[in-house]
Amino acid sequence: MLKRIIYILITIAIAAFFIWRYFIYFDWPARCFIRIQPSLLEFSNLTMQKAIRILKNASPSDYRDLCQYVNVINPNLSCGGFQGGCYSAYKQNPRTIDVSTSNRSLQWTVGIIVHETCHAKQFQQNRDFSETECYDEDSRVIKTITEF
Ligand SMILES: [Zn+2]
Repeated sequence: MLKRIIYILITIAIAAFFIWRYFIYFDWPARCFIRIQPSLLEFSNLTMQKAIRILKNASPSDYRDLCQYVNVINPNLSCGGFQGGCYSAYKQNPRTIDVSTSNRSLQWTVGIIVHETCHAKQFQQNRDFSETECYDEDSRVIKTITEF
């Protein structure tokens, strides 16, 4: 009986660890909590985690925006296509961004995260969508990381 309970507890612990590792980005000191949806195409959840950490180190202000305006990242292929991202506030949660990780590089993924966060911010601040603003932000960040 005790053996069975221990077995069940271990199984739950392992499952919890995997959920934690792959599907949740959590940074307690920054009060940052982001759910990463399971990716159907690839093991991209860890790529996303890595990209968020790079952003945190390279550009703290963009990281703060991400934590403030986004709480779900969908890493699956969406309206942005391969290597792209997408923000569509009307069909879903305004705090969800789509970021495909089938990308050229991690820097590129970070750039897309920043680009889509910029749209989420525009929407939540009741501003008009501006591609110029968001492209400027993502190229600025990619430049920062490259120099980093
Ligand atoms: Zn855009």
